Amino acid sequence: MPKDAKTVLIVEDERAIVEILKFNLARAGYAPIEAIDGEAGLKAAREADPDLILLDLMLPKLDGFEVCRRLRAEGNTVPILMLTAREGEQDKVLGLESGADDYITKPFSMPELLARVKANIRRRDYDAPATEGPANEQVIGDLTIDMVAYVVRKKGVELDLTQKEFDLLRLFASAPGKVFSREELMEKVWNYEYYGDMRTVDVTIRRLRGKLEDDAANPTYVLTRRGVGYYFNGDLT
Ligand code: CA
Repeated sequence: MPKDAKTVLIVEDERAIVEILKFNLARAGYAPIEAIDGEAGLKAAREADPDLILLDLMLPKLDGFEVCRRLRAEGNTVPILMLTAREGEQDKVLGLESGADDYITKPFSMPELLARVKANIRRRDYDAPATEGPANEQVIGDLTIDMVAYVVRKKGVELDLTQKEFDLLRLFASAPGKVFSREELMEKVWNYEYYGDMRTVDVTIRRLRGKLEDDAANPTYVLTRRGVGYYFNGDLT
């Protein structure tokens, strides 16, 4: 295993799934650790500071939604990929609203799962400048986006964004006024071909607005071009 292997925390109560995930993650160069229920998962997430969490939805003690909500409430922005056995749309939307970055439905194919793990971890590394300092900050309106620390401040106050929310905002802010279709956002922010559930984009934007806007119902930063997509308000620059 590489010395700088990324740690993946598996929170799952089905032994057989844990074993197959551990085996395949280790083979792909990750350092897997495991927790068998929601409480143990929460503890491991706090103490081991993993690079990604694979979080089963149906768990003893605390379910996946609750684990996710608690971590986000503590300001933990670790990428969370939720495993759900159910096909229900409602689960997916609930998972995303509880703060998960992504979800995958069981039974999943291992190559697809590994691709999603990679895509969701990748963001901490990709295109972050090597040096620190103001050059790594983008100031846009009353927002300051720190590309290295992955921190966004609004009028000096830090916003608690998850990674996907941060990536979305950074993409929007990189091209104020440019309208991004949901397909384009899915490809650029989620990094892989998706199987058509564009509600993931809408839900994440709704969450981002909830944190970013003074009034999420009347957004002034991230605007909607009806029937086309979303864009950053060019008048703020
Ligand atoms: Ca389970």
